[in-house]
Amino acid sequence: MHYETIFQEIYHELQSIENIGRVADYIPELADVNPDQFGVHLTTVEGDEFSFADAEKRFSIQSIAKVFTFVLAYSRVKSSIWDRTGLEPAGTPFNSLVQLEYDQGTPRNPFINAGAIVICDILASELASPKENILSFIRSLTGVNTINYNPMVALSEKKTGFRNHALVNLMKSFGNIRNDIDMVMDIYFHICSIEMSCRELSKAFLFLANNGVVPYSGERILSASRTKRTNALMQTCGFYDEAGEFSFKVGLPGKSGVGGGIVAVHPEKYTIAVWSPRLNKKGNSYKGMLFLEEFTTKTRLSIF
Ligand code: GLN
Repeated sequence: MHYETIFQEIYHELQSIENIGRVADYIPELADVNPDQFGVHLTTVEGDEFSFADAEKRFSIQSIAKVFTFVLAYSRVKSSIWDRTGLEPAGTPFNSLVQLEYDQGTPRNPFINAGAIVICDILASELASPKENILSFIRSLTGVNTINYNPMVALSEKKTGFRNHALVNLMKSFGNIRNDIDMVMDIYFHICSIEMSCRELSKAFLFLANNGVVPYSGERILSASRTKRTNALMQTCGFYDEAGEFSFKVGLPGKSGVGGGIVAVHPEKYTIAVWSPRLNKKGNSYKGMLFLEEFTTKTRLSIF
């Protein structure tokens, strides 16, 4: 299929729609991003790649990183991960505190902030040097050794992360955080600050489209069964209180971040990463979602 032509077509169609989204502005590093940038990159499991516009430009992947840390924890602690976090859609915003008290400190799923913080706690117990090990993991998925944290973003996340601190403290009070809070939050704020391009993201997620094996290195990251489960979690929980809408409109498992990135996976076929910084009210990329909806509709390449 001529994906590049399809990308251009959809991009031009969307140009005529007003972008009513707004860039995340809780930290200066995100508020200052040029909001009209746009990139998309598709990689097939056979290794074919298709790019359009700013596909090579790095941006703040934010919550997309929650998939990498979840996979790293899941591959190590296996099903005991479910003693620490649930696996149901939350139906609440990503940084909501409401449910956590009812659920006695157990987050609904690993992709809301509370869940991702618990995963950081698990990694703090499991890994010798969590921040270095997480970075090496992501680098090994892509083969790109320059992928890195942005220390300025990590610092800004820390300075403004009042709700995230509230979440970790509440979970600690219920005994669901084992390590020192500052150490756990240092990992969390750093993973939010990772910068990658659409091309790198699409390649990094490819093992999820390939039954758990990185196609170009042959390395198995997860068993086929755990890969299926990770995709199922992205399908039901990857877009917070908009997971139903993303499923309905796009029909692929995926994950978003407040930097405006979205990665989606078609098992056995391809991964696609799209970046458009203006966000809708739920914190997901406004045009990114529209783009993917048009893409899976035109190509009929959704899982439904
Ligand atoms: N840094 C953001 C936060 O912790 C990440 C949220 C997101 O991308 N949805 O609030």
